[in-house]
Amino acid sequence: MHELLAPGASLERLATGATWSEGPVWLPDRSSVRWSDIPADRVLEWSATTGEMTEYARPADFTNGRTLDLAGRVVQCSHGRRRVERDVDGIVTGLCDRWQGRRLNSPNDVVVASDGAIWFTDPPYGILPGGREGYPAPPEYDGCYVFRLEESTGRLDAVITDMVHPNGLAFSPDERTLYVSDTGHLQIEGAPPGIRAYPVAEGRVGAGRPFVEVRPGASDGIRVDVDGRVWSSSEDSVQVFTPDGQRVLVIPVPERVGNLCFGGADGRDLFVAASTSLYRIRTTTTDAAARALG
Ligand code: MG
Repeated sequence: MHELLAPGASLERLATGATWSEGPVWLPDRSSVRWSDIPADRVLEWSATTGEMTEYARPADFTNGRTLDLAGRVVQCSHGRRRVERDVDGIVTGLCDRWQGRRLNSPNDVVVASDGAIWFTDPPYGILPGGREGYPAPPEYDGCYVFRLEESTGRLDAVITDMVHPNGLAFSPDERTLYVSDTGHLQIEGAPPGIRAYPVAEGRVGAGRPFVEVRPGASDGIRVDVDGRVWSSSEDSVQVFTPDGQRVLVIPVPERVGNLCFGGADGRDLFVAASTSLYRIRTTTTDAAARALG
């Protein structure tokens, strides 16, 4: 047994019946995992208290990634509303939907830094022609950027503009590195696969570098643990990389993995949103952002 997994840990399927699962977050005050079933246009919740899966919202305008802000409130991405928004007890409020007067593509995943700034990716998956994860529409700006929103002032900066389809993102524990996965290679020949690492200082981002390639499939959602290891989704597993890019653990998952999050009463459960199902495995670590503990 690997040291990052609790003794005797095994992957268990907690719930199933979704179409394509994404955007899980652990909600300490509800002892539950909330996630998105994007093509079915609904938000699901699995309760650690009852062991039951329930539908939290439907329709949901195709929500995708979500996280908690500094006050423990849910911040989520909406393909359908093409915005980042906050959900407090089912009251959903938009935070930003435009950059320089133009609509965003379809925000995909989001993290909140310790200063409260909201960082999110904006690939086109919710507006693609014939797509089933939103409402097809032309993009209103040229590219797919990573943005930083300063909520107190409404200031929105495009902080990363050199990726093809930026998708999952997560900060290192000291927030001096932002990891961002790029799924562009799934659609566009020649696009670089894997995760890139960008230096961050005072809300500004420097030149990125390739961090790791993740095979098979792609790295979609990612999380970073307290020791700086990057936990990534892939086609057939969860894969864990040290800060210097060494792959140290592969957890096979019987379905394609979309995203993951840490949670549970002590933060050491890893929840995996994979295609039709939600899985859990017991680890020995926790998310770098202690908010997941509540
Ligand atoms: Mg994603």
